[in-house]
Amino acid sequence: MTEEYAALYVVPTPLGNLADLTRRAEEILRQVPWVAAEDTRHSGPLLKQLGSPARTLPAHRHNEHEAAARIVERLQAGESVALISDAGTPGISDPGARVVAAVRAAGCRVVPLPGPCAAVTALSASGLVDEHFLFYGFLPSKGGQRRQAIEALREQPAALVFYEAPHRVLETVTDLAAVLGERTLVVARELTKLFESIHSCPLPEALAWLQADANRQRGEFVLIVSGAAAGGDDGEGERVLQLLLADGLPVKQAAKLAAAITGAAKNALYQRALALKS
Ligand code: SAM
Repeated sequence: MTEEYAALYVVPTPLGNLADLTRRAEEILRQVPWVAAEDTRHSGPLLKQLGSPARTLPAHRHNEHEAAARIVERLQAGESVALISDAGTPGISDPGARVVAAVRAAGCRVVPLPGPCAAVTALSASGLVDEHFLFYGFLPSKGGQRRQAIEALREQPAALVFYEAPHRVLETVTDLAAVLGERTLVVARELTKLFESIHSCPLPEALAWLQADANRQRGEFVLIVSGAAAGGDDGEGERVLQLLLADGLPVKQAAKLAAAITGAAKNALYQRALALKS
């Protein structure tokens, strides 16, 4: 790579299935002289498998400032650098943002590659029809702070997207249900891996579903909660919806009518109707 093309390439890597590495990502990882990795030992096998001759330098949460300075130096010397994290897109609940900011501040080029991201992968299969989504990432690990954080999202009409670790998933789902109540929850687990599962259910029933099988609590999770019903649904929407469904109306029509009658959000009622039907 010649000096004029020196750039920091932000390269997403697979969440689990190696075939998800894009061709462009592969090319970049083979061509750049440097790869800045969240964990150089973790990324070593991937680079080896690609036959990448790149030298690695660590860029993790605890050395981002130093790493940024080293990367800027390389770029200014005309050498391109690829930035990768352990899995998915760097900078998305992963280190990388500080490096990117420093590189941009130094006037060097940043080239982002599209590719794997657990949040977007989960959203694409969620079936939630909320027009907007809010990516939150990890909630606080302490109970009180977590409930406060969820409370602050209560009125948010967008679907809420969280990352969660297996040892906290039960606590988090308990708190989501306690604070947000009647919503739809999509539990997307082990995406792109052997035991991938995507389950949608009413939020208040999610804890029992997870507890019914220890395997459902294993692996990596994206949790997506449908957005707050607009128009301050006070339960009337749900009551009318249930009557219409009991009368045999199809899901879509029942949701539309219940929304028109009560002023509750059509999308939320539609999700609820789907959950009730299943
Ligand atoms: N940068 C990554 C991305 O673009 O998605 C996210 C990194 S973050 C440190 C790791 C979290 O992402 C996990 O705790 C989990 O919530 C989510 N995640 C990563 N891989 C996943 C997978 N295969 N299935 C479900 N969630 C996953």
